[in-house]
Amino acid sequence: MLFLDRLFENCRSSAEKTAVEFRSGLHDDRSAKAVSYGDLLAAVERTAAWLHGLGARRGDRVAACLPKGPAGVCIHLAACRLGAVSMPLNPGCSEPELVYFLRDSSAKLLIADDTQARGMGRVLQQAKTLQRIVAVDSSSLDAFAAGAGGAPACSIAPDETALMLYTSGTTGRPKAAELSHANLTAMLNMLEAAWEWREDDILLHVLPVFHVHGLLVALQSAIHAGASTIMLQRFDPAGTLDALRRSGCTVFMGVPTIHSRLAAAAPRSNAVDLSRLRLVTSGSARMSEELFRQFSDCFGYEPVERYGMTETGIMLSNPLRGQRRPGWVGLPLPGVELRVVGPANNAPLADGEVGEIQTRGPHVFKGYWNDAQKTAAAFSEDGWFKTGDLGLRGADGYFQLRGRSADLVISGGMNVYPLEVERVLDSHPAIAQSAVIGCPDAEWGEAVTAVLTATDEPPREEELLAYCRRRLASYKIPKRMVFVQEFPRNAMGKVSKPALRQEHCRECR
Ligand code: AMP
Repeated sequence: MLFLDRLFENCRSSAEKTAVEFRSGLHDDRSAKAVSYGDLLAAVERTAAWLHGLGARRGDRVAACLPKGPAGVCIHLAACRLGAVSMPLNPGCSEPELVYFLRDSSAKLLIADDTQARGMGRVLQQAKTLQRIVAVDSSSLDAFAAGAGGAPACSIAPDETALMLYTSGTTGRPKAAELSHANLTAMLNMLEAAWEWREDDILLHVLPVFHVHGLLVALQSAIHAGASTIMLQRFDPAGTLDALRRSGCTVFMGVPTIHSRLAAAAPRSNAVDLSRLRLVTSGSARMSEELFRQFSDCFGYEPVERYGMTETGIMLSNPLRGQRRPGWVGLPLPGVELRVVGPANNAPLADGEVGEIQTRGPHVFKGYWNDAQKTAAAFSEDGWFKTGDLGLRGADGYFQLRGRSADLVISGGMNVYPLEVERVLDSHPAIAQSAVIGCPDAEWGEAVTAVLTATDEPPREEELLAYCRRRLASYKIPKRMVFVQEFPRNAMGKVSKPALRQEHCRECR
């Protein structure tokens, strides 16, 4: 059964139950708007008819650049229902980025919030294939006047593309990953089995919905299970803590920056009682062992760190029942095949050896939109998707990451895995966070460079070096350390290493 069939089944069998309650995200909940499964079904049908009336057809990319809210959720599901391709975009993207996404995807239709659409005249001119920008009230479910006759019935083949998401693009231009109806279904079924989603779960949702994490792993997982979601428009530590305490949530998902800000905002005197929470996950970026412990001490709950990417959904997760190991990303989800290979001929490596993580299975995306070359380069000859992440499998089957292969530092001919050095630096009490990069260097080829933020007063460089020497082989010791106030981050809060290299490598030359 494809995910849409499951959605419609849930809508019919639990018509009265709250599917999503939309809230502002701040203490003041006067804006709360509860949408039942029955309302959701009616709104998706109405929106599909509206999109059809606007000319959206099977296979067409439907671009939506909307603040988080009812309209965006509805347009996404309605585009899938029509057999069109949902393409949610970050409402905070710049005009040139927006033009790039629209041109690259050759979308004919862009739906934007009425507060922004008015200023988009130039986008319409520059994105040549774009025929229309349609303004809607993103905070409303009633923004769509159904076309006469409703949306045409449509039987969707599993291989048809449901969703196109632009990846953050750590190298070169962002590329759009095409995810089919079968991919989304497989991803959701795997998560349901691994995290034991239940109908009586309540998810507190604070993530953006233009990314696979917030849209699929969080929101659609809850809908797939027939559970309820409380969707906050934005993350605000005090508002989120308040909602976690008061709304009986059982599931919460975040990125490390969110968990760190929540732990910092929690009252110091006694631990916060979140005893109804049965699942708190962390992903999209590395959670340090220190943060794992800080969060566990503060909330009495050990977060479940998991690993995934836009092209594959979640592949690995620490177990719900069983040991959650700080610094490790856990075990493969049911149905996910994984291997760790060396640089020569994709030869599988023994447990404990570091190589590229590759994956195979129904969760692996179709390819990059309109880019056969990049798609071919992303797969091995024997059909495995090359994640570009380095890591190892321990003897007991748990995986550990060592950083992106593009971020590997080769210093004096030796491989330095940034994550290994970062783990040591992060364990120093005066270091809040570290990011290790390689900067071109005449003597070493690349010099290990640590960019750091301090918890309070930065420690003396000599002391930090001595700390590293006690814990790392000499070739891994940073040749240079720079303290900064803030890291450059992408929309998911992930530290941008290309931006760090651009800023700090220039200084080394
Ligand atoms: P995206 O496609 O934007 O979701 O980014 C996927 C990338 O995020 C992966 O290829 C990893 O490099 C990184 N990532 C995801 N989860 C984790 C994690 N738990 N720890 C470290 N990196 C992660």
